[in-house]
Amino acid sequence: MADAKKPAAKGAAPAKKGAVRGVWQLFEKKGDALVRKNKSCPKCGPGFFLANHKDRQVCGACGYSEFVKKAETAKK
Ligand SMILES: [Zn+2]
Repeated sequence: MADAKKPAAKGAAPAKKGAVRGVWQLFEKKGDALVRKNKSCPKCGPGFFLANHKDRQVCGACGYSEFVKKAETAKK
């Protein structure tokens, strides 16, 4: 047993250890208020968030996508 790597559950995407995902990650607490980090889908309404991708934001429910301007992604 040279490598301590354990195979992840079948079918599950390889995730970084300790990386827990959940809807609570989309919120940020600022004082007493909760601020949404991601935009919500204009088609599905509030509660449906757009997933952040490298160059676009996509709604998982309806497939709505917004492309991020190149100027923003090219920022260093
Ligand atoms: Zn949507």
